[in-house]
Amino acid sequence: MEEAKSSKKVRQKFLTAEIEHLIETNRLAIQARSMSASKRGIGRTSIVVVCMDGRTHQAETALGLDKTTTVRFASGGGKIELNDFLRLHAPLLTNDGSRVTILLTTHEVVGYPNLGCAAFNCDMPEQRRYFTALRQSLAQRLPEAWIHAVSHDTSTDGLWAIELDQRNEAFVELVKSGGKPLPKTQPNKAHGEYGIYVGDQLHAWVAGYNTYFHISSAAPSLRGDLDIALSVMLHHSKVDLSNKPIVLLLDRPTGDDPVSTEQYNQARIMTEDFLRSSKVTELMESGRIRLVELETNPTTWSGRVVTTID
Ligand SMILES: [Zn+2]
Repeated sequence: MEEAKSSKKVRQKFLTAEIEHLIETNRLAIQARSMSASKRGIGRTSIVVVCMDGRTHQAETALGLDKTTTVRFASGGGKIELNDFLRLHAPLLTNDGSRVTILLTTHEVVGYPNLGCAAFNCDMPEQRRYFTALRQSLAQRLPEAWIHAVSHDTSTDGLWAIELDQRNEAFVELVKSGGKPLPKTQPNKAHGEYGIYVGDQLHAWVAGYNTYFHISSAAPSLRGDLDIALSVMLHHSKVDLSNKPIVLLLDRPTGDDPVSTEQYNQARIMTEDFLRSSKVTELMESGRIRLVELETNPTTWSGRVVTTID
C-alpha cells in the first residue's frame, strides 16, 4: 500500500515536470512558427504521411523539410485510403495537385529488421507494395502533384527510394545521396514512447524523438491505433513506466474552422471510448495513465494546457 502510494507520488512528480516541459516546447514552437510564417503558402506545401510510431518524430527534418511549414498526417503504419486522403486534404489539392508535394514515408531500422513498422509486422516488401499502390492511385487523381514513396531509417535519418517523382529534382538528389544522415545514430533504436499525442500540431508540443506516438485526429483507424500504442508501451517497449504515467495528450484546435472542429469532435469520441475500456479504466485508477487536454491555434501554434494537475 505504502509502495503504491509512493510510486503514485513519483508519477505525479513526473507529470508536473512533463507539463512544464510541454509548455516550454510550445513557447519555442510558437517562435519557430512565427519565423516561418512568411514561407507558408508560398510554392508547394509538403504533406508528409508517416507512421504514428514515436521514432518518426523527425521525419520532416530527415526529408529536408521545415517541420513548421509542413502538413503531417500520422496513423498506424501511415496507412490511409485514397478517398480519405483526398477528403482530408481537399483544400490543398486544387489544380490537379500543382500546389503540393506528397511524401509517403515508411520507416525501418536498417540492420534490425525486427525493429521496423509493427503495423506492417516489420514486412518491408509489404510496406513497399502498400505505398507504391497508394502513390499510383494518388498520381492518377492528382497528375500535377509531386508524389514520393520513400523509406526512412529512424535511427540514422537515412533515406531510401521506393518510388520517386523525377520532376522534383532536388528531392530525388537528396534521396540518391542517402538523405542527411545524423552525425550519431539514435541511442534508442527500439520503442521508447511513454505517451500518445492525438491531434494535428504535434510539433507545437512534442520536441523529443521516440517519446510520443502521434495519431492525427482524422486518422480513420484512430480507435484501433490507440489500443496498439498502449499495447506497445506496456509490452513491446524499452521505456521504464515505473516512474512515469502514460501521458495521453488530446489537442483541440481553437478557432472556428468547421472541418478541424468536426475532426476533433470525432477524435474526442474515440479517445473517450478508449478511456472507458476496462483495461484503461484500471490503469487510470492506479494513476498509470493520465489524460492531458491541450488547445492549440492551428495558425500560430499558440496553445495552452487545459488540464490542471493537482
Ligand atoms: Zn510503424
